[in-house]
Amino acid sequence: MNTEKILEVKNLKKYFKVKNGMLHAVDDLSFYINKGETLGLVGESGCGKSTTGRTLIRLIEADEGEVLFHNKDVLKFNKPEMKEFRQQAQMVFQDPYSSLNPRLSIFELISEPLMNSNQYRKDKVKTNARVKKLMEVVGLSERLINSYPHELDGGRRQRVGIARALSPNPEFVILDEPVSALDVCIQAQIINLLKRLQKELELSFLFISHDLSVVKHISDRIAVMYLGKMVELSDYNAIFADPLHPYTQALLSAIPIPKVNVERNRTILVGDVPSPVNPPEGCRFAGRCIHAQEKCHQETPELREVGGNRFVACHLVNNEPSE
Ligand code: SF4
Repeated sequence: MNTEKILEVKNLKKYFKVKNGMLHAVDDLSFYINKGETLGLVGESGCGKSTTGRTLIRLIEADEGEVLFHNKDVLKFNKPEMKEFRQQAQMVFQDPYSSLNPRLSIFELISEPLMNSNQYRKDKVKTNARVKKLMEVVGLSERLINSYPHELDGGRRQRVGIARALSPNPEFVILDEPVSALDVCIQAQIINLLKRLQKELELSFLFISHDLSVVKHISDRIAVMYLGKMVELSDYNAIFADPLHPYTQALLSAIPIPKVNVERNRTILVGDVPSPVNPPEGCRFAGRCIHAQEKCHQETPELREVGGNRFVACHLVNNEPSE
C-alpha cells in the first residue's frame, strides 16, 4: 500500500446558522487519504458526510481547519490555484438524473470540464478524441455521443457523470453516494468500473455512502460519522471483523446476510437521532446507546488511537497501544 498522503484533513469544522442556533454539520474532523486508496465515509442521512465532501473541494466554505492537498492548504488557495486544484480533484454526485444538465449532449457534458484547459479549449480534434476515449474507458458506446441524459438509463447516466469527472485527468475523486439511486445489479457494475478505473488511473477516492454493505466492496479504510463527528476509523478488515464503536456495531448488524437459516444478533437502535443544532456536551450517540453511562452524557469522547492504527471515540473502548 502506498503511504504517500494525497489529502490530509485537520480539525475541519462547518457550521450553519439556523433559526434556533448553530447547526454543527462537520465538527472537528481529521483524517487522511493515501495515494491510490479509497476511504469510505459512512453514516446515516444528515450526519454531515456529504457536507464534508463538498467542503474539501470548497463547494461549501469551511469555517475552521485545514485541507492539505499534496501538503498545500486548499482552504487558502487563491483563484488561479483553485482553478488548478479543481482539475486535480473532482466530484461524482449522487443522482445522475439531476446532476447532469438535461440541455447538454453527452459530448458537451464530458467535454465541458476540458474547456478550462488550454490544451483542449482550442483543439476540436483533440477534444473529440478525448471524449471518445473517456466514453470507451467508462463503457459507453460511441453511438451515444450526441444523445441527451433523458435518453439514457440510470447506469449509463452515472457512467457519463464518471467520464465527466475523469475528463480533466484528476488524481482525487469524491464519490458522493454514486450508486444509491441505481438498481442493485447496476450498482455492482458501477462499483466494479470504479475499482478498475482506480487501478488503471491510480486514483484516490473518498467514497461517501449511507450503506456499509456498498462501501465494503470498494474501501481500503472506513470512517464512520455520527452527527458531524467521526466515531470510528479503521481499515476495512478490522471494522468488519471487530467493530469497536456501538454505533458501528449497530450499522453492521443491520446488513442482511444473503443466506437462509443464518441468525444474526441485531442491535436495534432506539430513539431518534438528536438535533445537530447546539449539541450538548457528552457523546452524541448517548441517547441511543445501550452501553451509555453517566460519563457519556457529560464528557465528549475524543477520537483516539486504540492500537493497530484503529481510532475510536468511545469512553468504554480501552486503549491497547500497538508497538
Ligand atoms: Fe455509548 Fe458512551 Fe461509547 Fe458514546 S461514549 S458510544 S454513549 S458507551
